[in-house]
Amino acid sequence: MKDEGGAAKEKGGLMKALSVVPLQAGSAALCDVDEPPVSDGPILVETLAVGICGTDIEILSGAYGWSPPGRSRLVLGHESLGRVLEAPDNGPVAPGDLVVGIVRRPDPVPCSSCAVLEWDFCRNGQYTERGIKEHDGYLSERYRITADFVVKVDPQLGVLGVLLEPTSVVAKAWEEVDRIGARAHWEPRTVLVTGAGPIGLLAALLGVQRGLEVHVLDRMSEGIKPDLVRALGARYHSGRIGDLGLHPDVIIECTGVSSVLLDAMSNIGVGGVMCLTGVSSGGHEISFDEGALNRSMVLENVAVVGSVNANRRHYEAAASALAAADPDWLSRLITRRVPLTAWSEALTRHDDDVKVIIEVQPSTAAAS
Ligand SMILES: [Zn+2]
Repeated sequence: MKDEGGAAKEKGGLMKALSVVPLQAGSAALCDVDEPPVSDGPILVETLAVGICGTDIEILSGAYGWSPPGRSRLVLGHESLGRVLEAPDNGPVAPGDLVVGIVRRPDPVPCSSCAVLEWDFCRNGQYTERGIKEHDGYLSERYRITADFVVKVDPQLGVLGVLLEPTSVVAKAWEEVDRIGARAHWEPRTVLVTGAGPIGLLAALLGVQRGLEVHVLDRMSEGIKPDLVRALGARYHSGRIGDLGLHPDVIIECTGVSSVLLDAMSNIGVGGVMCLTGVSSGGHEISFDEGALNRSMVLENVAVVGSVNANRRHYEAAASALAAADPDWLSRLITRRVPLTAWSEALTRHDDDVKVIIEVQPSTAAAS
């Protein structure tokens, strides 16, 4: 292992990090902070890029987030890509490797799920999450981590490795679908993905990789989303699901919009599995026939499951899925790249945004 204080000495012991005071809108600031403490882990990583998602926007707006115990500020960033600067000899990663840090950490009790490293199923809610809940995120020039929470990325992917964390979320959703489907004879042919944001598009990618006939539905009738869906060899739809004449074996719901969710649930095929990944904002009452829904779910053996977060197994499945994907298609998902110094531009949504990333080390980010 190299001198662990080397990088810190070169940089005068300080680095840039984007942090917020959780639950305080307008508190985001790019500040000088101390180099990551060695107590965070023996692996030192320089952050290359960080993806921005709806959770970050919620944290920035003051609606969500928890700072680490005894501190007021939380470093943002959970969709990361970095390059290893220092690592113990003969470990799973070596200097120069491209890596992604896992977001969630098991709760300290631990609950029965965290005890077997299925922290995505944490039962007591005492887990922590880097960049979200009581643990600094990855939006700093460097971070430290232990080998258990770092995942290697195919070097060919370069900066596209920043898509690994959102892909881990859909890898888990697909694992749930596969496992529930396998309760009986299971030969799925069609999948409908509702929502063509980054999660929906990555869910569609994994559907295509499984050899399924993939349909994606979103509000937009033209633009980059339909183009990206068609480039996958999938079919794009806008409008109501009930009008499509489609009864898919699998539905991956990525909008969290109640009307879309119920429309989808009402049109799933016999023995179908529907996985919910979007979070509804609540408070919107819509009328629907619960009796008819109950009847079709029972008589047609329909399963509906919710899915959140990802454990190490899902990150590894995601790393394989990205390595097998067309890099040109993946690079089209990243619609804007903003340097760290202009971070606020990354937080303003544009109509044609799919995935926006902040490049922390633009000069050294691997080619894509
Ligand atoms: Zn737990």
